[in-house]
Amino acid sequence: MSTQSPPDHDKARRKIKAVKKMKDIMMLYYIDAKTADQNGKKVAWITSGGPVEPLIAMDVIPVYPENHGAMIGASKMGADLCEKAEAMGYARNLCSYARCDIACATVNGGPIGGLPKPDMLICCNNICGTVLKWYEVQARFFGVPLFILDTPFNHTDYTTEAHQYIQRQLQEYIVFLETHCGRKMDHDRLAEVGRLSIAGQRLWQQVLDMAANRPAPMSAFDAFFHLSLIVTLRGTQTVVDYYTELLDEMKTRVAEGIGAVPAERYRLLWDNLPIWFRTRWLSERFGAHGACLVADTYTSSWAGSLKYLDEDDFLGSMAEGYSRIYINIGTDQMAERVIEMVQKYGADGLVLHSNRSCKPYSLGQYDIQRIVQQQMGIPALLIEADMNDARNFSEGQIETRIDAFMEILKAGKGAVC
Ligand code: SF4
Repeated sequence: MSTQSPPDHDKARRKIKAVKKMKDIMMLYYIDAKTADQNGKKVAWITSGGPVEPLIAMDVIPVYPENHGAMIGASKMGADLCEKAEAMGYARNLCSYARCDIACATVNGGPIGGLPKPDMLICCNNICGTVLKWYEVQARFFGVPLFILDTPFNHTDYTTEAHQYIQRQLQEYIVFLETHCGRKMDHDRLAEVGRLSIAGQRLWQQVLDMAANRPAPMSAFDAFFHLSLIVTLRGTQTVVDYYTELLDEMKTRVAEGIGAVPAERYRLLWDNLPIWFRTRWLSERFGAHGACLVADTYTSSWAGSLKYLDEDDFLGSMAEGYSRIYINIGTDQMAERVIEMVQKYGADGLVLHSNRSCKPYSLGQYDIQRIVQQQMGIPALLIEADMNDARNFSEGQIETRIDAFMEILKAGKGAVC
């Protein structure tokens, strides 16, 4: 781990070069998806925590309404689309990704003129129950088949019964794909896709781990951006190549003492989804105090199940890997993971985004805050907002709370904010 002295400000502000490549890859990916029917390919919409590897192995292009939702949020188009969904009769307290996607589909709205029409939908409830109804609505709207993978919640342990239950459904998933693609699954190809998926996740974790250095060469705000590939193209060589390059760049930045935040003084851990329409503002607000958000529970989720996956038996280990993801485990286990991250990244404080949209992510946050504070003695800040719906963001209030929290941090007190 690097402990070099803080770099000068010009060096510290150096942009991450891989950003352009990432944008190019994502642009090509969406062009491919939008022209899929002209190229004889099928498109499947899939939830962000869903098992994508069988789709890649069947040459089906996976499209993620949640990734699109993040783009909508970052483009500041979320509140308008949410209002449109509410005018269609959906409740304002429904997840803003769901509202944006449902409204977007009816008008081909959003920053890329809507998503390509799906040939099928794959819904895995390891992230929440909202996706079940959301995908049912979209399956009816587009008149396409829907496959639901039901992953029981892991309150404490992962049971044999749960494993067998999910494993059987994964077999049904493959039959579903074979039926709708009109050909058999190539299991050798699936095993290879599985190996690439694990390789991509390992590299992603290594990239995130570079932020354990001081100064951190990237922040959680950078991770929010670079996350897109491990979500959308997991299981492909593209992901492995890209994160290899990004990791090399991070190593160079560490060797040269380049930090994401000039003269980094405080290191924070973020919990929950980003507030997409305010990432720059938040980055600047924390940066003004010399604080870097060095890690977060959200982007780490896409490498959090590595220990359950077996590259020599990907299909056999998928059930556990996809079931034991961060928001499908009990609050005590979540707190344990947060504590591990506080220790690994040397965080001085915890910032929790209480997200109006994402109830399963936000539900146990007060308990996690209490457990982490008791065990680690670090201050914590809870911000109430929403990842996409800007109507649930009070700038003045949040600015005041961040400033107060940073004063507490500077004074070295472990008080709750
Ligand atoms: S409720 Fe949370 S997990 Fe579910 S779709 Fe919305 S943001 Fe994702």
